[in-house]
Amino acid sequence: MYGCNNFCTYCIVPYVKGRERSRDYNEVVGEVKQVVAEGYKEITLLGQNVNSYSNGQVNFAKLLEKILSLDGDFRLKFMTSHPKDISEEVVRVISQSDKAAKYIHLPLQSGSDRILKLMNRRYDSKSYLNKVDMIRKYMPNAGLSSDIIVGFPTETEQDFDDTMSLVEKVKFNNLYTFIYSRRSGTVADKMDGQIDIETKTERIEKLIDRQFLIGNDIAEQCIGNRYKVLVESHKDGKCYGKTECDKAVSFDSSEDLTGKFVEVKITSRANNKLFAQLK
Ligand code: SF4
Repeated sequence: MYGCNNFCTYCIVPYVKGRERSRDYNEVVGEVKQVVAEGYKEITLLGQNVNSYSNGQVNFAKLLEKILSLDGDFRLKFMTSHPKDISEEVVRVISQSDKAAKYIHLPLQSGSDRILKLMNRRYDSKSYLNKVDMIRKYMPNAGLSSDIIVGFPTETEQDFDDTMSLVEKVKFNNLYTFIYSRRSGTVADKMDGQIDIETKTERIEKLIDRQFLIGNDIAEQCIGNRYKVLVESHKDGKCYGKTECDKAVSFDSSEDLTGKFVEVKITSRANNKLFAQLK
């Protein structure tokens, strides 16, 4: 699907891409069938706000259910999920299929309710955490990643601490961190209280450092676990791929297994990179 109806105050997308438009259901399903028949192994359903998909009687959960029922050996992912829109129905559907990646990218942007309101994100920290709990109720080992913007206009130390505290609570696999930068034509560009670059840099470094340690802890807990990995490349006697919860893994293999699903056991790590053995 294309476009977005959300008008987050920092974002230019609704102005340049227009309002939400969902592609025809039969066309999407037909395209997936075709690429699976051609041997593609990973399919990602894309939209600025993919959970809002709606075509006739078909919502996003129904679209996922249909695609996951198709024959063939493939993995299905989707992004991006707006936290206010990801439904229990969607989470239940992906939890019930081996073909669905157990991975959700759920952009938080800020842990401060005051800043979330200024961003016009339409959720608060409590409802975000409720969504995380709901996802983990169905999929305790789901991989979660997020986007965070630091230094939004008027962001105080307390607001930033709220973000750090939410990051601490959720323990994301991965974070995409951004320093707020002004976009001409957006509401936030006209806000008073723009934050200086030194403060923004200091905050983003603190966030990256903390996430680095959280990522290491999560990787440590993976040692000894078995995962189904889709191999993405092969180089110098090693295969590189991703688990169903989107963790990057490498293992020794003289054979190039690119495009194959294999089972591995995690044996060690270096920071958050996982090393495995083929089972
Ligand atoms: S940040 Fe995402 S949800 Fe918000 S307006 Fe931009 S595209 Fe839409």
